[in-house]
Amino acid sequence: MSVTLDLTQSRAKPQLAVPPALRPAPADEKPSLIGMSRERLGEALAAVGVPEKQVRMRTQQLWHWLYVRGVSDFSQMANVAKDLRQKLDDAYTIARPEIVTEQVSVDGTRKWVLRFSPKGAGRPVEIETVYIPEEGRGTLCVSSQVGCTLTCTFCHTGTQRLVRNLTPDEIVGQILLARDRLGDFPDAATPAGAIVPSEGRLVSNVVMMGMGEPLYNFDNVKEALGVASDGEGLSLSKRRITLSTSGVVPMIAKAGEEMGVMLAISLHATNDALRDELVPINKKYPLKDLLDACRAYPGLSNAKRITFEYVMLKGVNDSLADAKELVRILKGIPAKINLIPFNPWPGSRYECSDWDQIERFADFVNQAGYASPIRTPRGRDIFAACGQLKSESERMRKSERDAMEAARISELAAG
Ligand code: SAH
Ligand code: SF4
Repeated sequence: MSVTLDLTQSRAKPQLAVPPALRPAPADEKPSLIGMSRERLGEALAAVGVPEKQVRMRTQQLWHWLYVRGVSDFSQMANVAKDLRQKLDDAYTIARPEIVTEQVSVDGTRKWVLRFSPKGAGRPVEIETVYIPEEGRGTLCVSSQVGCTLTCTFCHTGTQRLVRNLTPDEIVGQILLARDRLGDFPDAATPAGAIVPSEGRLVSNVVMMGMGEPLYNFDNVKEALGVASDGEGLSLSKRRITLSTSGVVPMIAKAGEEMGVMLAISLHATNDALRDELVPINKKYPLKDLLDACRAYPGLSNAKRITFEYVMLKGVNDSLADAKELVRILKGIPAKINLIPFNPWPGSRYECSDWDQIERFADFVNQAGYASPIRTPRGRDIFAACGQLKSESERMRKSERDAMEAARISELAAG
C-alpha cells in the first residue's frame, strides 16, 4: 500500500483513522522475533526444534522475510515449511505495534502514537514516532524509552517520568511500521513487488531523537540499531543513523565502538551554570567531560562530524556572546551545529528566540566555519516537533504495584 505525502491531500485529511484491519490484536504476549540479533534469532529457532545444522539457514530465511520483504505474518513466508511456520506462530509473534492514532501535518510530517504490551510495567504503554519528509530524504524519529529519567527544562518528554525502556522489537517495530504505512514494503508477500532499493525508500534516515535517552537504554538500542543497519536486511547505513544524547558521558565511547552510528549531542548551553539548569545531567557530567568525550569519539573525522544541537531560547542562550562562546568551546572538534527553534508545549516556561536573532546567531557560527543549519520546525500543528512528544503512559502508582504484588502472592499461596 502506498501513501502519498502530498500537501494538498495532507491538508484535506489532517487526521487519519487507522483502518481496523491494520490493528494487530492488542497486547499479544508471545515474545516477538523482531529486533533480535541473528544470534538470538537462531536461539529462538532452536528453541522450537529447528535442528542445529539448519539454524543458520533458517535464520537467514527469516531475516529476509522480516527485513527485506517486510512480512508481518508467518503464513506469508512461502519457502518455510508449513509445520515450522505453525510452530513459530504458536511460540512467537512478528506483528507490528498497535497504532493508536496516525496524524498527518499540513507539512507532510506524520506522527504515530503506538501502543505496546506492558512487559512488566503494569499496563500497556504508548510512545510516539515521527516521520519527517524532506527534499531527497525522509527521516524517522524513533523513541527509545517511555518517558525519560532526565528533566531537561525545555522538553515535554522530560515532564513524563520514565515508565520503562523500550525493547529491541519495539524500537525496530517503529521502523517496520513506518515503512509499512509509507509503502516502503509494497506487497510484502509477493515475490515481485516487495523489495524497494534503499535509494527509493521513503524512510532513508533514522534519528534516535524521539522520547527518552537512548544511552540509558544502551543494550536494547544497540541490538535494535544492529538489526536496522544489517546490510542483508533493513540496510540503513550507519551514516544515516544518528543517536542523540543529552550527555551520558561514560557511554559515549562505548556507543562509538559498539554501535558506530553518527552522534548528536544536546548541548544547548556553553557554560556549566546554564547547562546545569537546562540539561540537569550536566551536574553529573559537566561540559569539560562531555567535550573531552566528544574529542575522543571513535571514528571522528571531518567526514564524520558530531552534530551539536542547540535549542534557541529567547533571552536565555541566544546572544551573540553565546554564539562566540559556542565557537570557542567546540574548537578542534569536527562538528556541525544544529540550531533548533524552541518548540513550545503547554506549560513550558520558555519562548522561542526571535527569527532575526536566530539568523544572526547562525551567521556568526557560519562565519566561524561551522555548517549551522536552522532546523525548520516540522509538524508543530500535530505536536510532533522536537521536544513536544509525551505520552499518557504513567508509572503505576505504588498502591497499584502493591495491590498487584499482593494478588500475585495470594495466587501463588493458593497453589
Ligand atoms: N534524549 C535525547 C534525544 C531526544 S530529544 C537527547 O536529549 O538528546 C531530541 C532533541 O530535541 C534534543 O536535542 C533535545 O534537547 C531537543 N528538544 C527537546 N525539547 C525541545 C523543544 N521543546 N524544542 C526544541 N528542541 C527540543
Ligand atoms: Fe530526556 Fe532528551 Fe527530553 Fe532531556 S531532552 S528530557 S534527555 S528526552
